[in-house]
Amino acid sequence: AADFGIKQALDQLGVKDINNGSSTGSNNFANGNYIESYSPVDGQLIGKVKSTTAEDYEKVMEVATEAFKSWRLKPAPQRGEIVRQFGEKLREKKEALGKLVSYEMGKSYQEGLGEVQEMIDICDFAVGLSRQLHGFTMHSERPGHRMYEQYHPLGVVGIISAFNFPVAVWAWNTALAWICGDVCVWKPSEKAPLCGIACQNIAAEVFKENNLPEGICNLINGDYKVGEFMTKDRQVSLISATGSIRMGKIVAQEVAKRLGKSLLELGGNNAIIVTPDADIKMTVIGAVFGAVGTCGQRCTSTRRLIIHESIYDKVTKAISDAYKQLRIGNPLDESNHVGPLIDKDAVKMYKNALKKVVEEGGKIIVEGGVLSGEGYESGCYVKPAIAEAEPHFEIVQNETFAPILYLLKYSGGVENAIEIQNGVVQGLSSAIMTNNLREAERFLSHAGSDCGIANVNIGTSGAEIGGAFGGEKETGGGRESGSDAWKVYMRRQTNTINYTEDLPLAQGIKFDL
Ligand code: NAD
Repeated sequence: AADFGIKQALDQLGVKDINNGSSTGSNNFANGNYIESYSPVDGQLIGKVKSTTAEDYEKVMEVATEAFKSWRLKPAPQRGEIVRQFGEKLREKKEALGKLVSYEMGKSYQEGLGEVQEMIDICDFAVGLSRQLHGFTMHSERPGHRMYEQYHPLGVVGIISAFNFPVAVWAWNTALAWICGDVCVWKPSEKAPLCGIACQNIAAEVFKENNLPEGICNLINGDYKVGEFMTKDRQVSLISATGSIRMGKIVAQEVAKRLGKSLLELGGNNAIIVTPDADIKMTVIGAVFGAVGTCGQRCTSTRRLIIHESIYDKVTKAISDAYKQLRIGNPLDESNHVGPLIDKDAVKMYKNALKKVVEEGGKIIVEGGVLSGEGYESGCYVKPAIAEAEPHFEIVQNETFAPILYLLKYSGGVENAIEIQNGVVQGLSSAIMTNNLREAERFLSHAGSDCGIANVNIGTSGAEIGGAFGGEKETGGGRESGSDAWKVYMRRQTNTINYTEDLPLAQGIKFDL
């Protein structure tokens, strides 16, 4: 089989020796069992990574808390300079890292490159921000007093990430945390551990070249048990966790038990509303990419199309026809549109969902199925499917992390579509396709979409880093990336300074001595 330059990419990223148990970075502390990483692309073992034991974890935390003492004192723009260099390194390694992402996780090479581009973009954003970590000043009610607020570094930020964005989510968090003066400990998904090693190596080079302790950037490996070391640990000031709602509910409770801070980025159940005034061509592009991109494994993947009855048949036909053009196969081959699911468990969930929707009374419009034969040896390649369903079906209410699109019909005004769109527990991304100003504004209004992301005439997936990213309700309420998301990585302090020779009390209180 063609290698697609994988060996060379692994060499460039310094992940070639891991089969022998050696790797660079703080991961040197790892002494636990091996985690094996198999590619969903061809089913081959790519490498093994040692997991972190409780003892190893203590050492990592010692190194991290020590590094924090000096890192927090470095002026923020100087921390920004380190992040700038990190962004430069990512530019150099973009192709290699994009390839590893594609091979280990299964998304297309183009999407792998896109993920690395997001890392570069957040670095650029963070560099500028490092000169801007501003608070407010307020007028004091007391004469000769000054009052203002400032933001200080938090401490250790623990990052727990999902398999589907194995590198970008880490960078969204670290680039901001670093300029804010925090140090990071990252537990990548156990389904993409080599991406973690590759990123750690890239960051470690930058810290080394600048004579800075690598403890500013730490990696721990393993499954949820290793994640729990951090959620239960008081020394971790902020837990930023990305993954399923099931995981988020456990993590939120663990962190709340010690009254720690958490930033949760959980599952979505994203819909596009298609109104009678929609541009059908744009709708098809947005919906198809949203539903099948990354093989339906994006938190912002389009899961539901809420279509007005007057154009329902037309839209259904246009989308079904587009599905016929999809080429499914090796994601490193750029002529393919859809790669594999992450593993065989995911294939099982996909099959169950298709069964369930029929059991609940739905109708399959575009047939699914698992592919076999040459090129599909990993057993993880599936056909994107479309089913007609009802909004209240249990399967429609839940997120199935696979390329299954549910078509739902609405009648009457756009408010009916909005009600269906909001009638789920998740609240991540949403979109409306319309050229009608009234409909669009209604969708964005107080009585409109209840999601963290609401788009007009673009699909649900593919956010830019300049905006804050995250969702409401059971999606967890966290915001990452752009806008003022940086504030969660810092602690806020209000300061009042008296430059007179008197000590007047607030609220006019008298206390004569
Ligand atoms: P998952 O919940 O199975 O795992 C995510 C991470 O959490 C992994 O690193 C895992 O080891 C860790 N984890 C699990 N249980 C834990 C526990 N009790 N304590 C500490 N850590 C624990 O999710 P997944 O299958 O890797 O990813 C898919 C899910 O992630 C989907 O639901 C998707 O929507 C969501 N996701 C959300 C966003 C977002 O920004 N909102 C982004 C990407 C993915």
